Amino acid sequence: MKLFSIAIDGPAGAGKSTFAKRLAKDLGFVYVDTGAIYRSVGLFAFKNGIAIEDIEKVAECLGDVKIEVSYDDGGTQHVMLNGSDVSKEIRLPEISTYASAVSALPQVREFLLNLQRDFAKRYNVIMDGRDIGTVVLPDADLKIFLSASIEARAKRRYNELLEKNIKTTFEEVESDMVARDEHDSHRAVAPLRQAKDAVFVDTTDLSLEESFNLLRKIVKDKLGI
Ligand code: C5P
Repeated sequence: MKLFSIAIDGPAGAGKSTFAKRLAKDLGFVYVDTGAIYRSVGLFAFKNGIAIEDIEKVAECLGDVKIEVSYDDGGTQHVMLNGSDVSKEIRLPEISTYASAVSALPQVREFLLNLQRDFAKRYNVIMDGRDIGTVVLPDADLKIFLSASIEARAKRRYNELLEKNIKTTFEEVESDMVARDEHDSHRAVAPLRQAKDAVFVDTTDLSLEESFNLLRKIVKDKLGI
């Protein structure tokens, strides 16, 4: 049986996970949040006292990192780092910075590549990240590059963190996001960029419903489902 794969890439806060989750539910696909996997390696570095300036040290410890991904009955992804469910902890703002730092290391990307590709070999997937259409699933049936203005993205992320009772300010969220996008777009290995065959979607002036309907239509037009 043919398995479908949909790749959604884009900068932080573009709404990738919100829409990928909803599309996955609608289509009966598995949603793979690859950012959560990079965040878990970032959390490992943070917990092991590796400073951001010495981040390459994490490459020497990858033998001690075991990451497992599972799904609960509601389809929510859980990430286990060395046997503990870290799905909540990895959302803390300092872990975003660590995730971006570890993700620039080629050894880390190589270490996580097969874990990500295996999902697409087993399930119909919607996978979101930074390099899904360019590196992880270059043959994906549909590639979407999702973006929005920095103001819109920072506002959405700020509201998300407020809802989770994570203390921060809008200015902090916005400047972290600018720094992370800059870092993710300019790293040497698998930088954030739009695949040549990806459909570009800008959600700055679209509501949640409008964005979802547009994405759902793109899936229908391209995959016929
Ligand atoms: O998507 P999210 O914001 O959770 O990702 C956290 C960080 O993980 C990103 O800033 C990026 O540096 C890294 N990442 C990556 N490649 C992916 C997914 C995430 O480099 N496919």
